[in-house]
Amino acid sequence: MRIIVHRDKCQGHARCWAHAPDVFKLDDEGYILPGDIEVAERDELLATRGARSCPERALEIDRAFDALLDRFLFNQACGGFNT
Ligand code: SF4
Repeated sequence: MRIIVHRDKCQGHARCWAHAPDVFKLDDEGYILPGDIEVAERDELLATRGARSCPERALEIDRAFDALLDRFLFNQACGGFNT
């Protein structure tokens, strides 16, 4: 799972970090660091809670990335990659 960070929307509430401090990294002023976040499977539940807790909607959960990766791995296992 990937989380798309819209840093321009972040207001530094740190709610995301309160749910998943290992996933969401903040700067010294409490604003989320820029850049999308790749979330390990074991952290998905807490990361989802953290992203949904953001009152500014600065964190967007991208599950399309998972579907694409699944498709790629499936096609690779079958010996080819068809789009
Ligand atoms: S909860 Fe939202 S507004 Fe608060 S630090 Fe996290 S991303 Fe920024």
